Amino acid sequence: MVDVLTWHQSIQDRLEQKAIDVLRSGRFIMGGEVAGFEQEVAHYLGCKYAISCANGTDALVLSLHGAGIGPGDEVLTTGFTFFATVEAIMQVGAVPVLVDIDARTFNIDPTELERCITSRSKAVLAVHLFGLPAAIREIQSTCDRHGLVLLEDCAQSFGATYQSRKTGNHGLLGAFSFFPSKNLGGFGDGGLVITHDPEAAKTVKMLRNHGSASQYHHQCKGYNSRLDEIQAGLLRIKLEHIEAFNAERRQIAQWYRELLQDSDVICPEDCQEHVYHQFTVVLTSNRDAVKERLTARGIACAVYYPVPLNKQSALAKLPGGCELPVCEQLSRHCLSLPIYPGMTREQVETVVYMLNEEI
Ligand SMILES: *Cc1c(COP(=O)(O)O)cnc(C)c1O
Repeated sequence: MVDVLTWHQSIQDRLEQKAIDVLRSGRFIMGGEVAGFEQEVAHYLGCKYAISCANGTDALVLSLHGAGIGPGDEVLTTGFTFFATVEAIMQVGAVPVLVDIDARTFNIDPTELERCITSRSKAVLAVHLFGLPAAIREIQSTCDRHGLVLLEDCAQSFGATYQSRKTGNHGLLGAFSFFPSKNLGGFGDGGLVITHDPEAAKTVKMLRNHGSASQYHHQCKGYNSRLDEIQAGLLRIKLEHIEAFNAERRQIAQWYRELLQDSDVICPEDCQEHVYHQFTVVLTSNRDAVKERLTARGIACAVYYPVPLNKQSALAKLPGGCELPVCEQLSRHCLSLPIYPGMTREQVETVVYMLNEEI
């Protein structure tokens, strides 16, 4: 799905040199690379505070804590996302309430959201799935009317904008992941929390480092969830190129769209703000059989996600919430095609050619 070596080809020498520099510096935790990365990523995203951490799941957990979400609180989120979104809600003792999605966008349906609110609702955790910003304006207005906090899971939307502000800046806090396959992918695990709120920033900063604001003084129980110097150093280099990388993803998406226009598949929403973490189509034919035949012919493709969250056994004990017919329908018919910076038009043509033969 992602050829990271091709993706990194043009910066491979700089990446290797940076890794060696950090190894030779003798400084591996909370040094100049982390401080530099946090400053540069805050500038790029346009936020006041950027606090790095160990991974995207921790970024979500820290964001929820930063918003004061805890036991007994209900957090509304989409029924169609990676498991970590709801796992983080449960890690802080809160209860996820799964909301159905809009079939066109794969993101939470604002009308459904309104229907699922109860007296215990405290927050909405919006996910910008596949790199397409969720309907923030409608979601924010629902949050305002019901006194809910808005949080954003931006694990798949690094660099995406909504109404000319980057995702992550619309809610009280935004959480990002630097898992290698993400749009700003690192070389191991990494994560980031952003906010404009000084109190929330203070909480997150303290919690990521054992509940401590100054060394060996602990205000509360926290986590060991720091980004390391090697990751930060390498991410600084990739951050310089993120606009070009995301532009390449948009170009590849346009090629897919153009080549698929007469095919029996539904392409993702055509939107300038999309950063195409995935290019996910909806098939009318037997998706599993198509996937199997493509895989057998050496074409990578994947199903994100085959099981809607309401059908996950880990969530079987959740209080029965809203029905998720659209999540269930799309989980049976969606198929993600390869997309990554460095993928050529010829490769896209091959994927489309094979797909057309197999559907
Ligand atoms: C990847 C991802 C996460 C978790 O990030 P990790 O860095 O793997 O912990 C959370 N939410 C979504 C939507 C993701 O895609």
